[in-house]
Amino acid sequence: MSNWKKAVCLLLCAGMIFAYSRPVQAVLTNDSIREKEAEIKAAREEVSGLKSSKTDIERLKKELEQSKNDLTTYVAQLDGQLSGIQEKIAQYNTMIAEKEEEIEVTAAELEEAIRIQEEQYAAMKKRIKFMYEKGDTFYLELLMSSGGFADMTNKADYIESLSRYDRNKLEEYINTIELVKLCKEELEAEKEVLDEAKLAVEEEEANINALIEQKEAQILSVTSDISTKEAAIREYEAMIAQENAEIAALEKAVAEERARLEAENAQARVYNGGMFAWPCPGYTRISDEYGNRMHPILGIQKFHNGLDMAAPGGTAILAAYDGDVVGAAYNNSMGNYIMIDHGSGLYTIYMHCSALYVSKGQSVTKGQKIAAVGSTGRSTGNHLHFSVRQNGNYVNPWNYLK
Ligand SMILES: [Zn+2]
Repeated sequence: MSNWKKAVCLLLCAGMIFAYSRPVQAVLTNDSIREKEAEIKAAREEVSGLKSSKTDIERLKKELEQSKNDLTTYVAQLDGQLSGIQEKIAQYNTMIAEKEEEIEVTAAELEEAIRIQEEQYAAMKKRIKFMYEKGDTFYLELLMSSGGFADMTNKADYIESLSRYDRNKLEEYINTIELVKLCKEELEAEKEVLDEAKLAVEEEEANINALIEQKEAQILSVTSDISTKEAAIREYEAMIAQENAEIAALEKAVAEERARLEAENAQARVYNGGMFAWPCPGYTRISDEYGNRMHPILGIQKFHNGLDMAAPGGTAILAAYDGDVVGAAYNNSMGNYIMIDHGSGLYTIYMHCSALYVSKGQSVTKGQKIAAVGSTGRSTGNHLHFSVRQNGNYVNPWNYLK
């Protein structure tokens, strides 16, 4: 076949596609096409949903501004907002993972549609070549006499002149072209959702940091004021007393349960002496050691009852050892906290979390993800405060770590 003839075949083929794209629109009702259209619509709705669900930080700040006079209320409200935002981030991250999976599926569908399109195109070329070589110049004449592709699309008689077989093949081919187009569109729409979700995560993380900064400034301004210093120290001590009362009550409940089990001759949990897992993997910088030290805000000697591990908000917190969750709640001083009973009077406590993933009564294993790092409660920056208690007293966590 000469190059000239090949060129005619290709032109003819392209011409036929132009000619038939309008009249066969009505045939595009197959399931995969309708499904794609629905998915594209859903993705567009997801994008607008994402855009409108972002936290309005300015409005939030204004609301919080009104409760600044009462520091305790202010901190509790702020922490509620922080947890809410952290929850949003977790939802966005789930969405991102799902979208990434969907994109993989759509990309595979697109690849398959393109493969079918190429196959159908090759078959059509072969058919035209066959017709031409058989002496049927109808297709060629059709192209020549129409005065160009644009003209051809308006002449319905040409379509009528095609054989049923050729018309069916053309319709299939046009359907595939439409499917390829929709797959590409869907891929674009899904990528837009992904980008928007990633943007939302970034913005929410910035929102969290803005709120934590605001909280730090507020705690500092209230407690560093000389005239209110004594009141600040009293408030601090009242908070620690409240914190200790809450922990003691939890320990008392465990001791009672233990006594009940012993009375029934049932097995109570026993600590077997093993070393702890590092509760904040990847973050070993200690921003505040265990023991007596100068309180950074109050300027007086205070006992720091745990280790402060500096880590970004949202970092996973792991159970240091096997145990039972005996506390998973919010406290004004500890923020969102987890308390785990490891048996034999040994407990670990994890404070200032942004999110809690386990609840009271649940058994956990060493290294299990139980919470996320945050800055809730009496905290001025993202960190994990990790405390160990033995027989009703705080003990040095380093004895169980390393
Ligand atoms: Zn601490």
